Amino acid sequence: MSAAAGRTAGAGLALPLYPGPLVDGLSRPISYLRVSLTDRCNYRCTYCMPPEGINPLPRSELLTFEEIVTVVAVLQQVGVRRVRLTGGEPTVRKDLVVLVSHLARLGLDDLALSTNGERLAELAGPLRQAGLGRLNISLDTLDAARFAQVTRHGHLDRVLAGIEAARAAGFACIKLNTVAVAGFNDDELPAICRFAWARGLVPRFIEIMPMSGGALFYPGSLLPAARIRALLEEAFGPGEPGVTYVPGAGPARYLQFRVEGKSVPVGIISAVTEPFCDTCNRVRLSATGQLHVCLAHDESTDLRTVLRSGLRDAELAAALLAAVRGAVAAKRAGHAFTRAGCGGPRKHMVSIGG
Ligand code: SF4
Repeated sequence: MSAAAGRTAGAGLALPLYPGPLVDGLSRPISYLRVSLTDRCNYRCTYCMPPEGINPLPRSELLTFEEIVTVVAVLQQVGVRRVRLTGGEPTVRKDLVVLVSHLARLGLDDLALSTNGERLAELAGPLRQAGLGRLNISLDTLDAARFAQVTRHGHLDRVLAGIEAARAAGFACIKLNTVAVAGFNDDELPAICRFAWARGLVPRFIEIMPMSGGALFYPGSLLPAARIRALLEEAFGPGEPGVTYVPGAGPARYLQFRVEGKSVPVGIISAVTEPFCDTCNRVRLSATGQLHVCLAHDESTDLRTVLRSGLRDAELAAALLAAVRGAVAAKRAGHAFTRAGCGGPRKHMVSIGG
């Protein structure tokens, strides 16, 4: 994507009249777009991807950077001012730094990236300089053997080096995301918190979700939010809810603990046992241009065909917006996940990103 294209992408897309904010049928304003850049990943995390992996999509099926910027620029005009880049693993997408620089020029309120950290040591600096504001780094364990087990390809030392590079790069906020799995890393929650706090990071624990038709959701693996809180309070004393501010607009609920004289935050993302669908503010764009208005359902709306329809500028913007409004109007109230791992979509987490 040329610099000129980057500068102009968005410019000609001005909608003639302000069309009003993007709100779903339940009056939930949509202000947050998660953009999956690829379904490829350099890991094979046991709860995210089948052991054999998935057949990655041919490049021609992926949205180009210009198409991604176009969708973001159009939705920005109806109140979608927060964007998080996901995958698969977004850092395996070639020229990611170029895309970030073009998105940063749009003047969004928040531009963030989720990563497994494997390539962060080399990319943290360039991404920060390109205008990326925040990072969510996945880290499910501090034990190298467990790390290799859960990621099936991962190198803990590279992720730890990536975290140091991210800290040195000066990101406004770095969150450490841990998928909490009963019988796997539930004995490490306090250690992960101490690791994060000692580095000025915000630890967050995520309940496992029954994606992939529940096939990767092993019975008994769910560690409910109530149990996560109990484990943290056993280690750190009572946690105070809702008193700490952490940048971002996602569904995490934060607790504040008093540890060694300092107030420190922990986030919990409890989609299964304490859902947050009533305040859902987000939609997701897959790497192939499918708009998913809910992570937990398989239906999606094809924006790629609109993007490649030959329409240009305001006409393209209006057509994209009409397709998005139609999809958002039909957004369901919430998910049907059960604690037993039923009620989830067939899609893999790797194909849409968290
Ligand atoms: S399950 Fe769907 S409605 Fe609920 S928070 Fe997630 S994306 Fe929103």
